[in-house]
Amino acid sequence: MHYDIVIVGGGAGGLELAAQLGRALGRKRGRERVLLIDRAVFHIWKPTLHEVAAGTLDTHQEGLSYAILARRNHFSFALGELEGLDPEAKRLTLKEIRDKDGELIVPARAISFTWTVLAIGSGSNFFGTPGAAEHAYVLEQTEDAERFHTRLLSAFTRASFTEAGALNIAIVGGGATGVELSAELLEAHTELLQSLGPSQRFRLGLTLVEAADRILGGLPEKISEQATLTLQRRGVRVLTGAKVQEVAACGLATSAGPIPADLVVWAAGVKAADSNAGLGLAVTRSNQFQVDDHLQTSAPGVFALGDCAACPWRDGKLVPARAQAAHQQASYLRKVLLAKLREGHVAEPYAYRDFGSLVSLGENRGVGSLMGNLGGKNFFVEGLIAKYMYISLHLAHHRAILGFWQTVVLALARLLQERVSGRLKLH
Ligand SMILES: Cc1cc2nc3c(=O)[nH]c(=O)nc-3n(C[C@H](O)[C@H](O)[C@H](O)COP(=O)(O)OP(=O)(O)OC[C@H]3O[C@@H](n4cnc5c(N)ncnc54)[C@H](O)[C@@H]3O)c2cc1C
Repeated sequence: MHYDIVIVGGGAGGLELAAQLGRALGRKRGRERVLLIDRAVFHIWKPTLHEVAAGTLDTHQEGLSYAILARRNHFSFALGELEGLDPEAKRLTLKEIRDKDGELIVPARAISFTWTVLAIGSGSNFFGTPGAAEHAYVLEQTEDAERFHTRLLSAFTRASFTEAGALNIAIVGGGATGVELSAELLEAHTELLQSLGPSQRFRLGLTLVEAADRILGGLPEKISEQATLTLQRRGVRVLTGAKVQEVAACGLATSAGPIPADLVVWAAGVKAADSNAGLGLAVTRSNQFQVDDHLQTSAPGVFALGDCAACPWRDGKLVPARAQAAHQQASYLRKVLLAKLREGHVAEPYAYRDFGSLVSLGENRGVGSLMGNLGGKNFFVEGLIAKYMYISLHLAHHRAILGFWQTVVLALARLLQERVSGRLKLH
């Protein structure tokens, strides 16, 4: 099987790239020339995984099937997990696919390409902390978030049937993922209490543990202060300057003392898959593919974007692992690859533009900063406005893969569904 362009990973960046290329090439040429590969059958935008974990977002409503997205956007889709890459032969291999009972569905396959884009994302980094891999939940893939949600529901039930019940959750990592998960768990708990009888109500003890001296360290201090204050006011214990030394079934051992917890979520660090190091490309210590300012890896014809790419930015820093960067890189590679298909060349290098950051602090709250064009000034936003801006990023992603009207219809349908079934998924 051969395609001109093979994109591996249909996440925030890869899916947008496939949709943009497919639409630019049109129905027939798009499907013949562009292939998207993902190990999942449906797409969930990763920045919403904390909502899936807390149960405030239902994957059955939110998930968009890759096969249908491929048809609508004129690209081809193949289910599969990248196993190997031969950059010189321009060929990649996909693992065999087995069902839940272990029965073989599709044998291992090889696909050749003229150009390929690796967009396979990244995960968290345990930094070698003992017990973390065994006892902590992560939010790397949809299944991780769903697994945590199932455990959360059991823990909710147990706490509601225990006299003077309490549920303690520790979240390691005070970045956007940890902060947003804390806020979403508070929402889920508040919503749940409204459905429980007085004797079943229980307390939720949330501790957010951060090794640095403030949460949201990559963002301006004002955002970090505001987020800390909002979480503390709502009863979250925000513990900064505390290094996690060990994770156990009953909680954490930290440099600031033990933290008992029924559930632990690890939301710290960025590390790409160990298997990236075996693909014959130059990688960093955190397994990200080293790319140049045209997003090309160490092998000609092999590009990488998003979280799995280590792309130089400014002051010796790398482009941050954010949906915003994956989106911009997808737009850049669209230009590069369309030019290549027409035997042209894009000389202009990729330049990341930081438009600021928004962090969700629950249903009607948010905080963030927007980069203005006026002398690089930074605008602080908070409350409902920040939350609406945050939601608009999700809608912008849907618009990139569904178009304007389908995004409007989907948003309305979800709003109505929420009115009928409630916001919290309890099954
Ligand atoms: C809870 C949470 C909240 C976040 N909030 C924000 C936010 O508010 N703002 C922001 O900018 N960023 C946020 N992020 C970060 C953001 O989600 C990522 O930066 C972004 O999704 C990266 O996009 P990507 O395309 O590189 O990878 P991803 O979106 O992770 O997509 C990777 C895709 O590759 C597929 N894949 C992986 N390995 C393989 C393989 N071997 N073979 C085939 N397919 C494979 C996966 O199934 C997935 O579809 C958040 C992340 C999390 C977890």
